[in-house]
Amino acid sequence: MEVAIVTVGDELLAGRTTNTNATWLCERLTENGVHVERVTSLPDRVGDIARVVNEYRAAYDAVIVTGGLGPTHDDVTMDAVAAALDRPLEEHEEALAWLTDEGGYTRQDLADGTAHLPEGARALHNEAGVAPGAAVENVYVLPGVPTEMKAMFETIASEFNGTRRYREVIRADEPESALLDRIEKLRETFDVTVGSYPGDVVRVSIESTDESTVEAAAAWLRERVERP
Ligand code: ATP
Ligand code: MG
Repeated sequence: MEVAIVTVGDELLAGRTTNTNATWLCERLTENGVHVERVTSLPDRVGDIARVVNEYRAAYDAVIVTGGLGPTHDDVTMDAVAAALDRPLEEHEEALAWLTDEGGYTRQDLADGTAHLPEGARALHNEAGVAPGAAVENVYVLPGVPTEMKAMFETIASEFNGTRRYREVIRADEPESALLDRIEKLRETFDVTVGSYPGDVVRVSIESTDESTVEAAAAWLRERVERP
C-alpha cells in the first residue's frame, strides 16, 4: 500500500511548529508495512490544498491530511478536501449525535460548522478534542493538534497495511567512503535494501520483508566493520 501525507498549516512553513505529525505518521505507517511516498506541507489555502490532494488521491492508495478542523477562519482543511472531492460540506448528523451523546456537549455549545463534513463522508470521532475528522473515498482528514491526530489515527490504523518489513541497523566507526566496498558486497550477497546515514558514526540500515535475510546480512556486516 502506498500513501501520501499532507500536513496543512502556515505555522509549519514559517518554522514556528515542528512537523511532528508527519514524522509520527511516517513511523506508524512504516511499522504497518505501508510505503509513504510523499510528505507535503502546505499553507492554509484552499486552492493549494485541493490541488495537491487531488493529485495524490489519484496517484496513491490513500492520502492522509492533517490540519485545522475547527470552525475558525484559518481552519480550511475540511473545506479544501471537500473542494478536492467536489462535494459540498454539510452537517453530519451522526458526528453531531456522537458529540452530544458521548462528548457531553449540547448543540448550543458547539460552534457553527463544527460537525460539517464533505457530503457522504464517514465521520471519525475525536476522542481527544472536539472537531471530528473524516474519511471520504481514499482521503482521510485528521486534526492538526498532535494528541488528537494520534488518537484518531489509531481508530483507523487497521485500514493501513502492507507487507511487514524487518530492519537492523549496524553502527560503524569508519568514514562512510571507506565502507562503500563492503556495502556493495552486502547488496550483491543478500536481497536487502541498504541505507547509509553518516553522523558521529555511520549507521547502516538493512531492510527486507524476510526476517532471516536481514539477520544474516546484519551478521555478515557486523563482522566486517570497525564498531564504535
Ligand atoms: P486551533 O483551534 O487551536 O487552531 P486547529 O484545529 O485549528 O486548532 P491547527 O491550527 O492545525 O488545528 O493546529 C493546532 C495546533 O496543532 C497548533 O499548535 C499547531 O502548531 C499544531 N500542529 C498543527 N499541525 C501540526 C503538525 N503537522 N505537527 C505538529 N503540530 C502541529
Ligand atoms: Mg487553527
